[in-house]
Amino acid sequence: MNAVYIPFSANHVEESIEFADSLGIKGFSVTIPHKEAVLPSLKQISAEAGEIGACNTVVKKGGDWYGYNTDAIGISRALLEFLGVKNFKKMKIAIIGAGGAARAAAHAVKDLHGKACIFNRTLSRAKETAETYNFKWTALDPSSRYLLEEYSDLIIQTTNIGMGSTPEELSKDPLFFHDFMGTEAVYDVIYHPGKTKLLRRAEKAGCKISNGYSMLLYQAYKQFELFTGSTYEQS
Ligand code: NAP
Repeated sequence: MNAVYIPFSANHVEESIEFADSLGIKGFSVTIPHKEAVLPSLKQISAEAGEIGACNTVVKKGGDWYGYNTDAIGISRALLEFLGVKNFKKMKIAIIGAGGAARAAAHAVKDLHGKACIFNRTLSRAKETAETYNFKWTALDPSSRYLLEEYSDLIIQTTNIGMGSTPEELSKDPLFFHDFMGTEAVYDVIYHPGKTKLLRRAEKAGCKISNGYSMLLYQAYKQFELFTGSTYEQS
């Protein structure tokens, strides 16, 4: 395939679009913190990107830019594989965070018939995300300890906390107030580091754990399809 996929840093989404137009780029991935800001620059967005309110894949068609969200399909496939189940029926799931990744997770949980509670620092964002999917919502602090124990069949961690490389970043744990029982399955969407403090604590307590690498991989397979029109085949 005569193609390259290379990283560009950007200060503003508008300058990326201009740059892509001038170079004849056919499509690009959008990562934090630009997934929401890119929306107004697009001619049309998919139903999923609209509902989630974030776009991570932009493709040029007939001179216009079209937006998609592949995080939802990525996390859905990653979580089903992680748990070895076909859907989330009868499961009570905690979604930690209410940003773009959390909304992709909420979309997947709803689609797979699970019940969820959204835990977030900024309550208004927790409420907004939860109301879209008819889920519960609460604060991400010790006052929500009992609700977290109730929604603990699966804990999906989607905040930035624990991501990074400095000792200070690595020492952070968004669920510092939760004592793991060992029965929770814990999926942290962060993949750098490979094991956040949260995952290390959960593993030590006997929980089934996974980092977000599988989500990254599966959302990228879908991006490959959107960029090339071909299915990605593992060699
Ligand atoms: P986002 O839209 O900016 O949302 C960030 C979330 O983290 C919000 O809920 C925010 O809470 C919370 N947060 C940030 N700093 C916090 C702090 N100090 N204390 C408490 N809460 C804090 O970002 P995003 O796009 O959802 O990405 C979030 C993470 O997911 C990143 O680490 C990203 O790399 C990862 N991710 C992974 C994949 C994958 O394929 N594995 C895909 C997408 C994203 P507030 O609302 O209170 O600000």
